[in-house]
Amino acid sequence: MNNKENIINCLDKGFVRLIDHMGDDAAIVQAARVSYGDGTKSVNEDKGLIRYLMRNKHTSPFEMVEFKFHVKLPIFIARQWIRHRTANVNEYSGRYSEMKDEFYVPNIENIKAQSKNNKQGRSNEEFSEDLAQNFLKSLEGNQSFLYNEYRNYLDQNVAREIARINLPLSNYTEWYWKIDLHNLFHFLRLRLDKHAQFEIRVYAEAICELIKPIVPFAYQAFEDYEINSVNLSAEEIRTLKNIIDLNNLDYSNSKLSKRELEELEIKIDKIKKIIE
Ligand SMILES: Cc1cc2nc3c(=O)[nH]c(=O)nc-3n(C[C@H](O)[C@H](O)[C@H](O)COP(=O)(O)OP(=O)(O)OC[C@H]3O[C@@H](n4cnc5c(N)ncnc54)[C@H](O)[C@@H]3O)c2cc1C
Repeated sequence: MNNKENIINCLDKGFVRLIDHMGDDAAIVQAARVSYGDGTKSVNEDKGLIRYLMRNKHTSPFEMVEFKFHVKLPIFIARQWIRHRTANVNEYSGRYSEMKDEFYVPNIENIKAQSKNNKQGRSNEEFSEDLAQNFLKSLEGNQSFLYNEYRNYLDQNVAREIARINLPLSNYTEWYWKIDLHNLFHFLRLRLDKHAQFEIRVYAEAICELIKPIVPFAYQAFEDYEINSVNLSAEEIRTLKNIIDLNNLDYSNSKLSKRELEELEIKIDKIKKIIE
């Protein structure tokens, strides 16, 4: 990351740049105190409060923090990204300006076979290098051909808005994207997940690096309670019942706070009812 400019390069020609932000961990705490009173004061208490909010899905204080990014990304990723409706977007206009001669070309190691068990994804198995090379050659040839056609018709005064329609999804676009922290965490939860396409995950990971220094407590809580936690279905819990002896739990080495241990006991009671 270039700290001075808050920019992280993504894929071959893209980037995420943090333009601006409003608020930080303190803004979350400040908003929460409106509902919980003036009780917490020290840094540790602030951290604890943020973690409590995250754990209990008390989400509105996280909406008090906002981030504005400048993103350069291939159109096929923009199509996935734009589905997140709770952000504000302003995109480069291919009607007003010429589309640039910039196309995503994947690294050869990212060209893989169709996954057999995930209909939306790539497999991790070995893949023919010849086939990958052929694919890349064809991709770049088509990108170049289609861009030349586009330019050719622009030169003949065909309107930009119609000349562009055959440009491929690998063409890069740019936008400004503004979102509050609650909805950004939702975006990150979905787009950091291994089910998300590799190319959008690269951007999600870059966003994490940019926001971590601004909201360190909130980000840590997000990692602990969202990214590195699991939801288990009733049947999954029943499947696990022979592995964990719920009647003989030893908390002596636990790093959980007193409050978190109390919350854990409530969860264990719920689990016991499920497996009864
Ligand atoms: C791995 C993966 C695969 C996907 N595959 C497909 C696919 O094959 N086809 C496809 O079409 N999409 C697909 N999507 C997109 C997905 O269905 C969602 O549209 C996208 O992830 C945005 O999620 P969201 O609606 O929760 O987010 P946001 O739009 O940011 O909304 C956040 C939350 O706000 C609330 N909300 C926002 N707008 C409304 C509204 N109008 N009404 C009610 N509640 C609202 C909801 O609670 C929502 O969860 C995929 C997403 C992922 C991560």
